[in-house]
Amino acid sequence: MASITLPDFERDALESLTTYAAIPCLSPMYDSQWVEHGHIESAIELLRAWVLARSIANMDVRVERLEGRTPLLLVTVDATAPGDGTAVLYGHLDKQPPLGDWSEGLAPFTPVRRGDRVFARGIADDGYATFSSLLAIEALQAAGLPHSRCVVLIEASEESGSPDLDAYLDHLRDHLGRVELMICLDSGALTYDRLWVTTSLRGVLNVEVNIRVLAQGQHSGSASGVVPSSFRILRQLLDRVEDAATGEVLVPELRAAIPPEQVIAAKAVAAEFGDIIARELPTVEGVELMGASAEERILRRTWYPTLSIVGMGDVPEPAIAGNVLRAATTAVLSFRLPPSVDAEVARVAVERILTSHVPSSALVTLSNWNFGSGWVAEPLAPWLATALDQASTLAFGRGPGFTGEGGSIPFLASLAKRYPSVQFVATGVLGPQSNAHGIDEMLDLTMAVGVTNAVITVLGAYASSS
Ligand SMILES: [Zn+2]
Repeated sequence: MASITLPDFERDALESLTTYAAIPCLSPMYDSQWVEHGHIESAIELLRAWVLARSIANMDVRVERLEGRTPLLLVTVDATAPGDGTAVLYGHLDKQPPLGDWSEGLAPFTPVRRGDRVFARGIADDGYATFSSLLAIEALQAAGLPHSRCVVLIEASEESGSPDLDAYLDHLRDHLGRVELMICLDSGALTYDRLWVTTSLRGVLNVEVNIRVLAQGQHSGSASGVVPSSFRILRQLLDRVEDAATGEVLVPELRAAIPPEQVIAAKAVAAEFGDIIARELPTVEGVELMGASAEERILRRTWYPTLSIVGMGDVPEPAIAGNVLRAATTAVLSFRLPPSVDAEVARVAVERILTSHVPSSALVTLSNWNFGSGWVAEPLAPWLATALDQASTLAFGRGPGFTGEGGSIPFLASLAKRYPSVQFVATGVLGPQSNAHGIDEMLDLTMAVGVTNAVITVLGAYASSS
C-alpha cells in the first residue's frame, strides 16, 4: 500500500465539486417541481461527465431512470482481483434546503473557500462522495493494485428519506450481484483527526398532527371558555408521549436498552475528548443542557428517543395575531428513535396514543407520516477491522474512532435487512462545524482527502480478503 500515489483531490475533484455545490438540487421533499426545475438533472449530468473523464478501465457509467422517480447515477467497475463479490459505494446528490440566511460572506449556492474549508449546501452532505469513491478506485488502478468489482450508487432522494432507493435496489438486484461490502460515505465524524466509523444510527418518525375544534376561528371573547382550545388539546396529547419536565419520551415502543458495548464506546470517547457533544452546540449563554455527563450526552444523542416539534401551522405570525380562538392547531412531531427500535412498531404506537380518547373529543388528523428504522452495525469481520485500523493510520496517522450517530440514514436499515451478511462501513466527513442541514455547511478538504485515502485502503484490503 505504501507505494501508491494518492489521489490529488484538489486538482482532480475540487473544480467539479465546486460547480456541483452551486446547483440548488434540492431533494424532492423540498422541491416538488424538481423535474421542471431540472437541477437534479444538471447535477447528475455534471457528476456523470466528471466520472467519464476518470482514467478508470472497464468502467460503465449509466444514469438509471425509473418512472416517476429521481434518477440514480450507477458506476460499475469490473474486478481486477479474483473473487465474484461486489463492493457497493453509496452517496447521494440531492440536497437539503438552505434553512435560512447564511453567515456574512457565505451563501448556500455560491461556494466560498476559506483556507482548507469550502462552504456551500450539499458539498459535504453528500456531494464529495462521488468524487471520493471514484478517485479511490482510480488510484488503485493507477498503482496496479487489484480491486474487486465496485458499484458506485449515487441516489437523488436521500434527504427525502430515500423513497426511491428500494425500487432501484429491486431493479438492480441482479446487477449488484453478490454484495459483500457496503461503504456508505454519508455519515459523520466527531473530529477531523482520524477515520470515524459509525456503529449505529437513530431511526426517525415524523407525523403532522392537526387538531380541529371549530369550522372557523371565533372571537375569543365569545368562544373562549366554551370551546376548548386546540392548543391546549395539543399540549395534552404531547404530554402522553413526552414528559414535559424532563423531555423523556414516554412511549414504551420508542424506548430500547442501550447495548453494553455502546456504553463502553461512549465512555472511551468521553474520556478522550471530554464533553465533545456539548461544546459543538451554539447554546445560548446560561442554558442548562440535558444529561449529567459527557458520556451520558453521547448516549443521549445516539441511543435515546427524543421529540422535537419541527413545524407548526394554523397559528398566525405575532404581528397579525388577533384575539381569536383559532379553529385548529397543527404541529409536526419529529421523533428520533433508538437504533434498535422498529419504526413501524413505533408508528403504530404513536398513532394509537394520539388518536384514542382525544380530550374534548376534538377532531385529530394525522398525516404526512415519514419514518424509518435506525441501524446497529454488525460486528466487523476480522479482515475489515484490520483494514479500518490500517486505513485510518495510513490516512491520518492514528487509528479509527467508533461512535454512534444521532441522525438517520433511512436506507441503511433496509439495506442491512436486504443484505444481512454484508459488511458495512458507514463513514463520512461531517465533523464539527460541517453544519449539514444547517446554515454554513462546510467541507473540510483535509478530511475529504483522508476519507478518500481510507477508502483506497479498505477496497484494497477487501480485494485481498477473498
Ligand atoms: Zn446525506
